[in-house]
Amino acid sequence: MSSVKELNYPHLLIQYQNGFLISKVMFTACELGVFDVLQESEEKLSSKAIAEHLGSSLHGMERLLDACVGLKLLEIEVSKEGAFYCNTEISEQFLTKSSPKSQYHTCMYYSKTIYPCWQYLTEAVREGKNQYERAFGISPKAVFEALYRSEDEMLKFMYGLNAIWSLCGRDVIAAFDLSPFTMICDLGGGAGALAQECVSLYPDCTVTIFDLPKVIQTAKKHFVPLEKYRINFYEGDFFKDPLPEAELYILARILHDWSDENCVQLLTKVQKSCKTGGGVLLIETLLNEDKCGPLESQLYSLNMLVYTEGKERSPAEYSKLLTASGFKEIEIKKSGKLYDAILGRK
Ligand code: SAM
Repeated sequence: MSSVKELNYPHLLIQYQNGFLISKVMFTACELGVFDVLQESEEKLSSKAIAEHLGSSLHGMERLLDACVGLKLLEIEVSKEGAFYCNTEISEQFLTKSSPKSQYHTCMYYSKTIYPCWQYLTEAVREGKNQYERAFGISPKAVFEALYRSEDEMLKFMYGLNAIWSLCGRDVIAAFDLSPFTMICDLGGGAGALAQECVSLYPDCTVTIFDLPKVIQTAKKHFVPLEKYRINFYEGDFFKDPLPEAELYILARILHDWSDENCVQLLTKVQKSCKTGGGVLLIETLLNEDKCGPLESQLYSLNMLVYTEGKERSPAEYSKLLTASGFKEIEIKKSGKLYDAILGRK
């Protein structure tokens, strides 16, 4: 028999215990293509039709669909003919593969790469280092060697990271008026979503995406349309090779991968390459100064522990790195979304 105390088990605690079950329901429905099949269908579908379409067991699919209804990712209509499912606005917009705002690839990256790493969070906290060796059996000399351990992994990473900018890329690029900068370099620009956002918002600028050679080749092949005028590419290692000259350097989700020492090393190099009157734009998720929130930034900082050599930082911590590297007139703009912007001047 349950005691009264057990029955009063705090609701919040139960929610936390179930957090990863919720993530996995959403990831699995994405992976199996539940939202895509419903989007493609002209009408609401029964669990039997969905299971047949996706080649799954009926009883497994029924439970998955009902859990998705509980999570408001699906709607159910029950009639004399049975139960029929359709997408909700959130799944239609963000979880179907073909939507322009799709977060499908991010879900897959979380499910297949981040999730296995987080199984070793305890070890990461104990040892203070990332957990590639335990999670994937590789002992990386460099973080990005591990991240890009295969062509397929690199593509998943690039798709996964690029997706968020369809939701908040415009906010961070518009946080400051960047129109005075016409030569912009997106350092570690990856798949190029922010560069594309930049050229579409600022008609006078040219953006050079700087990244590791294999990332640049993949960006050209899979992400940035060849006819995309005003976007150039530059292959190199930003710690070892000369940087292309620019008026503004964008570093979006770069510094959070690295230790303070590496950040100052990179920012000092940026400061030296930067034209006089130019600057650097950092785009990162910001912790509150007292580190008491926001929760997403706190979780992402743990993610950086499990997964990279870096951490998320507060505005004061970024300002300190910028000042140590010779930047001045540092301004911070909170976008109210997941990522914020910090501008430093040479
Ligand atoms: N800026 C992109 C964004 O926010 O979507 C990508 C951010 S991702 C976390 C870090 C990027 O830095 C990757 O594209 C990676 O290939 C690049 N990178 C890592 N080490 C690098 C290096 N040594 N030289 C050049 N690029 C590097």
